[in-house]
Amino acid sequence: MRIILLGAPGAGKGTQADSIKGKYPVAHISTGDILRANVKAGTELGKSAKEYMDAGKLVPDEVIIGMMEKRLLEADCKDGFLLDGFPRTIGQAEALDLMLAKLGIKLDAVVSLEIDDDTVVGRLTARRVCKQCGEIYNTVLKPAAKEGVCDKCGGEVIQRDDDKESVIRNRLSVFHGQTSPLIDYYGKKGLLITVDATGGKDAVLKILEQRKG
Ligand SMILES: [Zn+2]
Repeated sequence: MRIILLGAPGAGKGTQADSIKGKYPVAHISTGDILRANVKAGTELGKSAKEYMDAGKLVPDEVIIGMMEKRLLEADCKDGFLLDGFPRTIGQAEALDLMLAKLGIKLDAVVSLEIDDDTVVGRLTARRVCKQCGEIYNTVLKPAAKEGVCDKCGGEVIQRDDDKESVIRNRLSVFHGQTSPLIDYYGKKGLLITVDATGGKDAVLKILEQRKG
């Protein structure tokens, strides 16, 4: 199974990816992971990426694509892979197509995990974190026993700026701006499957199974 998983921050891509991994031998690949791995290993691409990041710039598509190509040639991708949150732009999607064609690899599906913005805002604004030990809380699902105090270490439990509504709405608007052209792009190729992100942790897996069967 060779899949791209698209979905807004807070849509639950990680949960769906875990469920797919439970059934199919797919390597789970995200841009963030391969960037960190290349920087850590000190590869040429990693050094190049680090220069951009240190300068506070976006890592260019050709660097990301170069890392992605190396990653897809690793042994654990032989039986399948799941690209998590990549590609992000049409430019990256086109570059990915060229690279996959070169490697003789065909995608099985591009899954768009659909969720409405208010649900995402509800999910993410509930997040709290301990300033001291990093323990994650949730005001609905996992509140601290005493509000504002960490159960584990007694540290202060706060809402990070990233989890505030205005920041989340802004991220969602950037996400939609970048993703709607991708949805059209993969729709025209006949690869797109849309899945309701509120359909439970196996929502994507169920649809992939149905299509296969
Ligand atoms: Zn703590």
